[in-house]
Amino acid sequence: MAAPWEDVLRNEPAIQEAASVAVDAALLEGVLMRTEGEPNASDVVNYAPFTLLPSAVPSVLFEQAYAVQQDFNLLVDAISQNREFLEHTLASHAGKVTHKLWVLEDWSALARELCWIYLRLLPCAGATITDCGPHNLTIKVDDFTARLFRIHMQVLEEGLAQSVFLGINRSDYMFDCGVDGTPALKQIEINTIAASFGGLTSRTAAVHGRVLKVLGKSKEASRLLPNNPSIGLALGIAKAWELYGSQSAVVMFLVEEVQRNIFDQRCVENELWNRNIRVIRKRFRDVFEKGSLDDAKRLYMDGQEVAVVYYREGYVPTNYDQQNWEARLLLERSRAVKCPDIATQLAGTKKVQQELSRPGTLERLLPGRAEAVARIRATFAGLYSLDMGEEGDKIAATAIADPDRFVLKPQREGGGNNLYGEELRQVLEKIRDSPERTSYILMDKIKPQPAINYLLRAHSPLQASECISELGIFGVYVRQGKEMVMNKAAGHLLRTKAIEHADGGVAAGVAVLDTPYLV
Ligand code: ADP
Ligand code: MG
Repeated sequence: MAAPWEDVLRNEPAIQEAASVAVDAALLEGVLMRTEGEPNASDVVNYAPFTLLPSAVPSVLFEQAYAVQQDFNLLVDAISQNREFLEHTLASHAGKVTHKLWVLEDWSALARELCWIYLRLLPCAGATITDCGPHNLTIKVDDFTARLFRIHMQVLEEGLAQSVFLGINRSDYMFDCGVDGTPALKQIEINTIAASFGGLTSRTAAVHGRVLKVLGKSKEASRLLPNNPSIGLALGIAKAWELYGSQSAVVMFLVEEVQRNIFDQRCVENELWNRNIRVIRKRFRDVFEKGSLDDAKRLYMDGQEVAVVYYREGYVPTNYDQQNWEARLLLERSRAVKCPDIATQLAGTKKVQQELSRPGTLERLLPGRAEAVARIRATFAGLYSLDMGEEGDKIAATAIADPDRFVLKPQREGGGNNLYGEELRQVLEKIRDSPERTSYILMDKIKPQPAINYLLRAHSPLQASECISELGIFGVYVRQGKEMVMNKAAGHLLRTKAIEHADGGVAAGVAVLDTPYLV
C-alpha cells in the first residue's frame, strides 16, 4: 500500500515548501471553514484541515466500496419502511424512555405518553407492564433515540403526508489489515443524516495535484480522480423538489446554530441555485417560530412553501431543546420531503447496524436480492448486541477480558463518543449487569496499516504523523411512493487522522480531509 512519494517524505525543505503551496492552493480552491472564534461570520475564514499528501487506497477496495453503495441505499430505504424491524430493534431503547417519563413535570404530556406506551410500545417490544416498575426509574437511558422513535411512531399513526423520499447517506469504511497483511474493506458505520464534506472534498484533489507537482510527481498528480459529491447530492435534492411538484416551493437547509462548516453546505446550495431552485437556510428555532402546516400538511416558512427539508442538524441530543423537538415534529408531520425522514435517521443508528449483522436479517430486509446481500455482508465487521441475556453476558465478559479487540459504541453520532481499551473495560465492567449496557453495542476493532503523512491545520506545527484513513462513499436515492426513481453512488470522501486518536471526525478536529491515491 506504499505511495510512490516515500522518497520525499523526510525531505524537510521540500515538505516545507509543498506545505506553503498546499495551504494557498486550499484557500484558492475553496477548502474553507469559518474559524472557531467567529463561527457564524465569514469575515475571517481559514482552510479546512487537510493532509499534505494524498493517501494510498487499494483500488480493489475502493471499487468494492462504490459497487456496494446502491445496495446500501436500497437497504437503508427498506429499513426506513419496515416499521416492524425498527420497532423490534429499537424497542429496548424506545421502551426505556418511558421510565424516565415518571419524573416529567408536565403531567398532561405524561398522561399522553403513558397511554401511548401501553397501547403501542410495550406489546411490540414483547415487554410487560412490570418493565415500568420502580427498579428502572433511575436508569440512565437513551432518551434521544427514544424521542426520535416516538416521533416516528406518531407520524405513522397519523398517516404519512410525505410521498416522495430522499436519502443522502455516506457509508464509511476502514481497511482492516488481516494477519497475512491483506487489507479488507470493513464498514465503520452508515450516516443517514447530515453526512457532510461532500462539498469540500470535491476541492481537495486539485490541491493534492498541485502538491504532487511541486514535489516532482506530475505523473502521480495526473492519476488523482475527479470527485464531486455535491453535484450528486444536489441532483437528488433537485429530483425530490421536482417530484414534490410546486415550482414556487423552496428547498430548506436546516442548519445548526454554530455554522463553521457553511462552505461545505454552500457547495450543494450553489448547485441548486444553478438549477434555479431557491434555497433558504433556517434553524430549528426559526421553524418553531415561523413554521406552519396548512390543512393538506404543506409546510410553510414565513409564507413560503417548502418542498424539501435537508437536515444538516438534528443528529445529536444537544441540537434539541423542547422547542426544537416541537419543530422537528412539525417538519416530520409535513408533506415536505425530509432528507432524511425520521425513520431513515433511525435506520442509521448503531443498534440497527448491529442487528443487521445477525444471520438472516439482510435476507429478510432485501428479499430476492441475494447478490446485494452478499456484497453488503462482505463489508461487515463483527458486531455484537449487549442486550440482557446470555449472548450479551458472554460478549461483555469477552470484551472485559480483551478490550483492545473491540470498540464500545453508544447510540450517538458526530464522533468522540466511542470507548476503547482501558476506558471500554472500566465502563463495561460498571454496567455489565445493568440494562444500561443495552444502549451500547460492541464492534470488532478495525486495525488498518498506518502510513506517514503531514496533517495541515491552521496554527499547528508541521510534523510527520503515522496516520490511518477512513473512506466514505456518498449515496443518493429518491423514491416516489413504492417506486425508486434514483439510486446512485455520488462520490467519495477520504478522511485521515493520526493513529493516537482512536475516534473523531473532521468537525471534531481530529481527522482531516484527504484524497485517495489508488494503488
Ligand atoms: P460517529 O457516528 O460518532 O461518527 P463512528 O462509528 O463513525 O461514530 O465512530 C467514530 C470514529 O471512531 C470513526 O471515524 C473511526 O475513526 C473510529 N471507529 C469507529 N468504529 C471503529 C472500529 N470498529 N474500529 C476502529 N475504529 C473505529
Ligand atoms: Mg462516523
